[in-house]
Amino acid sequence: MRMIIFGPQGSGKGTIASRLGAKLGGIPHVSTGDMLRDEVKRGTEIGKNAAPIMNQGGLVPDSVVNKLLEDRLAKDDAKNGFILDGYPRNITQAHELETKYKIDAAVLLDVPVWLLLSRLTNRRVCRKCGEVYNLVNLRPKVEGVCDKDGGEVYQRDDDKEEAIKERFALYEKVTMPLIEYYRKKGILKQVTCDKLETTPDQNVAAMLSVLGVEG
Ligand code: AMP
Repeated sequence: MRMIIFGPQGSGKGTIASRLGAKLGGIPHVSTGDMLRDEVKRGTEIGKNAAPIMNQGGLVPDSVVNKLLEDRLAKDDAKNGFILDGYPRNITQAHELETKYKIDAAVLLDVPVWLLLSRLTNRRVCRKCGEVYNLVNLRPKVEGVCDKDGGEVYQRDDDKEEAIKERFALYEKVTMPLIEYYRKKGILKQVTCDKLETTPDQNVAAMLSVLGVEG
């Protein structure tokens, strides 16, 4: 299964994609946002150039992201499939992806705006491993500490209000046409999540169902 997961920031798609990958035979969840944050953390040339763009909620140049992704998907664990999260972000990236892979499904996680805002302002991330938490429905067992590796659980700079506004505007302008693009190709599936109390596992089950896979 080679698939893309779409959803606005705060839709919980990262958490869902990780769990979905495990259910789909262990295919990796590949997040270009996580990869870029890793570059920033390691202080690489890519990271240094990307950091200011990311902090302002802009898009890192296609050439940079395309190369990062190409190298990631060439790894052994992606041989039998992958779940892309955060890529493609525009039609140019979608075309680039198509030159290399046949995509089986694009799943849109449809979440209303009020729920997104609640999720975003409550989202916290582990500084070490990137595990995502939410202060409303997915709290770490100990406040401020990652369940997985004990890392510091913090609020990302790009989850702050100004960056969020820019990202919403970008999502509408650039990403929505992609949803139409995959709808026209006939591979778009949709899962609606409009309740704050819906758990990531319930969303994963709904995804498996629209993909026609037994949970
Ligand atoms: P995300 O975690 O997917 O929200 O990504 C965080 C930030 O990384 C975005 O706001 C962008 O600045 C950058 N980014 C992630 N994926 C891409 C992409 N496919 N193309 C360009 N920039 C990206």
